[in-house]
Amino acid sequence: MTQFMKLLLAGTITGVVMMTAAIGTAAAAGPENRITILYDAFGKDASMRKDWGFSALVEIDGKRILFDTGNDREIFAANVKAKNIDLANLDFVALSHRHSDHMAGLAHVLSVNPKVKIYAPKEGFGIYGSSLPSSFYRKAEALPQDMRYFDGKPPEIMTFGSAWQGANFELIDKTTEIVPGITLIALVSEAPGTRELKELSLAVNTPDGLVLVVGCSHPGIDKIVEAAATINPKIHLIAGGFHLVVASDDAISKIVATLKDTFKVENIAAGHCTGEPTFAALKQAFGDHYIYAGVGTSLATGSGAGAGQRRGEAPALDAEDLVSYRRLAAREDPFGLATWRRRLANTGSDGAKR
Ligand SMILES: [Zn+2]
Ligand SMILES: [Zn+2]
Repeated sequence: MTQFMKLLLAGTITGVVMMTAAIGTAAAAGPENRITILYDAFGKDASMRKDWGFSALVEIDGKRILFDTGNDREIFAANVKAKNIDLANLDFVALSHRHSDHMAGLAHVLSVNPKVKIYAPKEGFGIYGSSLPSSFYRKAEALPQDMRYFDGKPPEIMTFGSAWQGANFELIDKTTEIVPGITLIALVSEAPGTRELKELSLAVNTPDGLVLVVGCSHPGIDKIVEAAATINPKIHLIAGGFHLVVASDDAISKIVATLKDTFKVENIAAGHCTGEPTFAALKQAFGDHYIYAGVGTSLATGSGAGAGQRRGEAPALDAEDLVSYRRLAAREDPFGLATWRRRLANTGSDGAKR
């Protein structure tokens, strides 16, 4: 064996050992923690279709949660396909509220995954179905039988159908921790036009603080954050719609100040019904902690994930791009030789684990 070949072989073996170590680290770190925006009316990802509405895939803590399903079944299906998302592999779906710009894609989800658990707000006579004890209505015993409901013998519990018959709904009445560390916050809107509408928001407790995903925030984003802060006062990230799309400048300033100064929210990734003037106000207030969240964007969440993410400006490489880039980079260096050489060449500020 020539000296050159011995050197080459030694390098390759070192590379293989290093590659194995790198894979070990990756496996120990678990799957990527991220939120991928699947439905919104703005974005810079040309492979995604834009439409009014909201949906996000939340991959966090080893769970895959579909939060809301958009405004149009076909557009939702196209965006899911564009992001290569397997709807058959979900832990559960959470529907924020009964507005159709958050639910129309559910039919597509059910066509792929008919038995998936779906959490939705519990509302009397709502479209998710409900039930009531038959004692709720007043009786008139003296009436002839054929004028009485159920001939005067109603079932003990009366059930009211859902718009998606056979779907595996679990209705949430009040704030509930559905899995350790994952809570659905249930609040009711008091705003004119949506009074009595119940809305669920998703709160995931991470080592970095709470990650909060909101649909439309009809009960008020300040009220939702206030409820979230009782789970963990450290709010790491809020993503979703803040429902300030027609709010006055004064109302917007007040909310922005509440989020930034009262609740000390660390990162903001507003979308959907937050509103254009509110995007501007939040960007100004949060600076590089304003995270662009157009349709197709993947937001890094959880421990250590934020460091590599450029914020504020529409980034050249967003988190999703970075993930693909790293995969490609790893493939181009299959034996870890380039990494090994780079380590030798510079004294350690660079490295494989970024
Ligand atoms: Zn709504
Ligand atoms: Zn909406």
